[in-house]
Amino acid sequence: SRQFTRPLNDLANQFNTLLSAIAGAERVFDILDEQEEYKNEEGLDELSSIKGEVIFENVSFEYEEGGKTLKDISISVMPGETAAFVGPTGAGKTTIINLLSRFYEVNAGKIYLDGTDISKIKKESMREHMGFVLQDPFLFQGTVMDNIRYGRLDGTDEEVVEAAKLANAHSFIMKLPKKYETVLNQDGSGISQGQRQLLSIARAFLANPSILILDEATSSIDTVTELKIQEALQKLMVGRTSFVIAHRLNTIRQADKIFVLQDGRITEKGTHEQLMKKKGFYFELNQGLAAVGEHVTS
Ligand code: ADP
Repeated sequence: SRQFTRPLNDLANQFNTLLSAIAGAERVFDILDEQEEYKNEEGLDELSSIKGEVIFENVSFEYEEGGKTLKDISISVMPGETAAFVGPTGAGKTTIINLLSRFYEVNAGKIYLDGTDISKIKKESMREHMGFVLQDPFLFQGTVMDNIRYGRLDGTDEEVVEAAKLANAHSFIMKLPKKYETVLNQDGSGISQGQRQLLSIARAFLANPSILILDEATSSIDTVTELKIQEALQKLMVGRTSFVIAHRLNTIRQADKIFVLQDGRITEKGTHEQLMKKKGFYFELNQGLAAVGEHVTS
């Protein structure tokens, strides 16, 4: 999933530079608005509120000419549903997310958000409705308070604390030397990977997006924190359309729709029960996951 976090991290790094250079937070968005990526979008739609219906219609994509990465992908996810993507490394799971987030543009086919072709929507406007919880959440040099507030820059201190409570992050934050005023390093040293995940979940609660992109951690996290993450994510996903690159059996089983990807194609789709009955690739994958425990696919 490294390919996916790269564009996001670039954005975070630009953001960092800006944050340290500029005092007023609103100015940051003004300057981001002027970025290259957001140019040439005049005349495109802005979204005020969205329901969160996502449709991929015969989408194909290649990063480089000649190398077909996704082939004829059609999926439909209704508002509030959870879609889980499973399959071997390199199958194209991250690429689906990259296309939905518009880090790349489709070569063929269309992606619709609430019935509107996403290439006709301003990226910035779209991303305002999207929240990301990734394997390696980015942090910047700043307080815990500000790191969570990154989810929505006009969030008040009270709203940040509320979001941290929903994310099961409040209790560990209160044990930090200066609580919410503790300064974190950019690499997040000083807190565990699981705690960084909880902070990123708090960010997502604060942002309150209609669409949630979730890339489940593959590395092992201590059991207590893992349970906190699971519980917080379950809460976060309620009422939001969620696209999950799933590695945990629990998440996969609870998804409304499971899409099995192999070599850039969707080879099976359905609920856990439907796919188990088929006794196909998903069934085998599931046997493997159950046997080894979890965190084995990527
Ligand atoms: P998954 O998330 O299922 O592991 P990816 O979507 O990351 O799969 O990758 C799908 C295919 O696209 C792989 O063959 C991968 O090597 C290739 N790929 C991914 N990102 C890039 C990129 N930025 N440039 C070129 N090829 C890429």
